[in-house]
Amino acid sequence: MTAAIDPVDLASRLIACPSVTPARGAVFDVLEAALTPLGFTIHRFVAGEAPDGPVENLFATRGSGGPHFAFAGHLDVVPPGEGWASDPFTPEIRGGLLHGRGAVDMKSDIAAFVAACAEVEHKGTLSLIVTGDEEGPATYGTPAIMDWMAARGIRPDMILIGEPTSEDRLGDVVKIGRRGSVNMWITVPGVQGHVAYPHRADNPVPRAARLIEALEAIHLDDGNEAFQPSNLEITALETSSKATNVIPGAALIQLNIRFNNLQRGTDLIELIRRTAEEAAPGAAVEAKISGEAFLTPPGPIYEIVSAAIEAETGEKPRLSTHGGTSDGRFLIALCPVVDFGLPNATMHKLDEAAAVEDIHSLKRIYAQVIKAALPG
Ligand SMILES: [Zn+2]
Repeated sequence: MTAAIDPVDLASRLIACPSVTPARGAVFDVLEAALTPLGFTIHRFVAGEAPDGPVENLFATRGSGGPHFAFAGHLDVVPPGEGWASDPFTPEIRGGLLHGRGAVDMKSDIAAFVAACAEVEHKGTLSLIVTGDEEGPATYGTPAIMDWMAARGIRPDMILIGEPTSEDRLGDVVKIGRRGSVNMWITVPGVQGHVAYPHRADNPVPRAARLIEALEAIHLDDGNEAFQPSNLEITALETSSKATNVIPGAALIQLNIRFNNLQRGTDLIELIRRTAEEAAPGAAVEAKISGEAFLTPPGPIYEIVSAAIEAETGEKPRLSTHGGTSDGRFLIALCPVVDFGLPNATMHKLDEAAAVEDIHSLKRIYAQVIKAALPG
């Protein structure tokens, strides 16, 4: 057992280090200084180049042998934006709330976990996987740490990601999976010309309209017990010309699909390509998969996290797959993963703030999770 850590104090010190993605340096120094006296071995490494990097990542580990339980998180934050009531990188407690960029997403969550580590003795191996690029493209973030771990044969048995998943109150929602996301850009070609001489042009707009109708008619699925139905949304429509007397040479359709685990990104791209070819022959489809859908199958981690929450709050959490994605989309390749952390109402907003009381409660929940995951 080591000296207690006040999670609010540690969260404040992390907030005081500005760390907009890609993060490195001082904010990792603060985390390392907190973990080292707790008996963790720390590995820090910087990966990548501008503009997505360089990014710093940290892997900390304590104990040895199995089972191996890991906590994952990120020290980077989204840009603060203008109009805060107080400086976003000067932590301030007002009305029982700790204010600052990262107070919710997710420096306080990391601080709560570190404070829990200071209080708990455990068997097996306890690790922290912390990246400086979760809010950005993640190219040199969690996937880079996973490569580093794979090269050393390090593979946890379960991972808790400390993302802020609670909604109305601490402990009401745990994320057991996330939807996938894919963006696509469809170019419908035409031949530009004068509106007065349409026979010398080929207007792509009617074909684009037919394609949109065909896209809207696609029924992907009805969802399942764990996920809501997959959804295709047209997010932009434009042509290559805005002039009133010009038939445009091309029309561009942009769309996003949020999809459940009944779908795969590559199959969806194929489906949209076929649909485009039928409704608008010659159309070109470009696509980028942000992440595949994943679901952690029911298992011990559900029970461990639910029981720890119930012991603190008196209520069982709801197991959900709603909302945006997390680095669980990468980590699920290693082992079962769930996301659980602070109430997320102010994440990414102006005046981001976490209740001081919630940060202390979260520390107690995390301590309970460590005890149950690594009993002994
Ligand atoms: Zn986050």
